[in-house]
Amino acid sequence: MSVINSKFQELFGAAPEVVAVAPGRVNLVGEHVDFLDGFVLPFAIKDVTTAAISRNSDSVIRVASMQRDGEIFEIPVAELEPLTGEPWTRYPIGVVWSLGIKSGLNILIDGQVPLGAGLSSSAALESSVATALNHLFDLKITKPNLSLAAQKAENVYVGMPCGIMDQSVSIMANEGFALLLDCRDLSTQDIEFDIEPVGLELLVIDTQVHHALVDGGYAERRASCEKAVSVLGITSLRDISVEDFVARKSELDPVTYIRAFHAVTEMRRVLDGVAALKANDFETFGKIVTECHQSLRDNYTVSCPELDVAADTALKYGSLGSRMIGGGYGGSAISLNKKSDTEKIKVEIRKAFEANGFIAPRFFTSLPSAGARVLN
Ligand code: ADP
Ligand code: MG
Repeated sequence: MSVINSKFQELFGAAPEVVAVAPGRVNLVGEHVDFLDGFVLPFAIKDVTTAAISRNSDSVIRVASMQRDGEIFEIPVAELEPLTGEPWTRYPIGVVWSLGIKSGLNILIDGQVPLGAGLSSSAALESSVATALNHLFDLKITKPNLSLAAQKAENVYVGMPCGIMDQSVSIMANEGFALLLDCRDLSTQDIEFDIEPVGLELLVIDTQVHHALVDGGYAERRASCEKAVSVLGITSLRDISVEDFVARKSELDPVTYIRAFHAVTEMRRVLDGVAALKANDFETFGKIVTECHQSLRDNYTVSCPELDVAADTALKYGSLGSRMIGGGYGGSAISLNKKSDTEKIKVEIRKAFEANGFIAPRFFTSLPSAGARVLN
């Protein structure tokens, strides 16, 4: 019996009715544009979060996680209330709430996605629960709508105003492909990312730091992009070309301009990156990845010294492209490099971190893996 099944049996006295898994993700190109109707190009990593669930007849939600010592938290299903309860339990319970489930449930979580490393363990957790419940109650919810339900759990029940990228890729990714996601209508295209046969590897560098944003943070940046949309009288930053946007620079104050400039150019980079991948041109793709980092660092200003040192060191030692991923101010960076260069890049990043007095980074690699699925 698998570890999660035997733990479930031990905690709840019977085998689970359904077990589902959902992966974390890395994002190749398209950062901080999912909440702006933009295009993004993430892929699912091999590490998954597993949710084992059964119905109970007590009208109570019981939830436990192997990453939280298997301690059981309980709440009557009639009393679900956003922003209440033990913080980590809000992710799975938020999904029960957003799907409108009225039955009592026993839920056990086991996550292999590193928590808080910018690889979206939160979306993996929500998506595993959403996928399991969709199956258990035969809800027949489509993958885009299941992604929206998982996002609603995080936005409303957890209180984290994240975009739609992480849940979408966790639910809709396919093995071997990056997912081109149009965040306006959640339509997708599988983009081949077959790096192994050409001797490449995607290295993830977890800086293990999380700095607080000092000057107003993400909400302020998002507000700048929304202000640009309203001043320019357009529906979305995705509806203006880089050239037209630059031509209208004088209509925007400097901060609004530079933040929105990141978004407009980032959406272009996603489409250019897809074209490069379709042409099997990994050199050009790598340059686009590096340009993302430069824009996040200089225009959107969400990088930090650890992320800059990681990306710069990777590039110095042969990386084709390297950048910070995720929200910024910590978390992880990625490097697309020759597999034969990975060891050297890791050693040099470790050395550079030590020389700068940073805490030691962690490293992962992953090929594009499958999205959420039911195991039984
Ligand atoms: P990220 O999504 O980048 O990993 P977040 O801060 O968005 O970082 O989400 C991490 C949070 O999600 C954790 O602090 C915890 O509350 C919750 N979480 C994720 N996976 C698990 C798990 N396996 N068990 C318990 N809580 C989890
Ligand atoms: Mg998260």
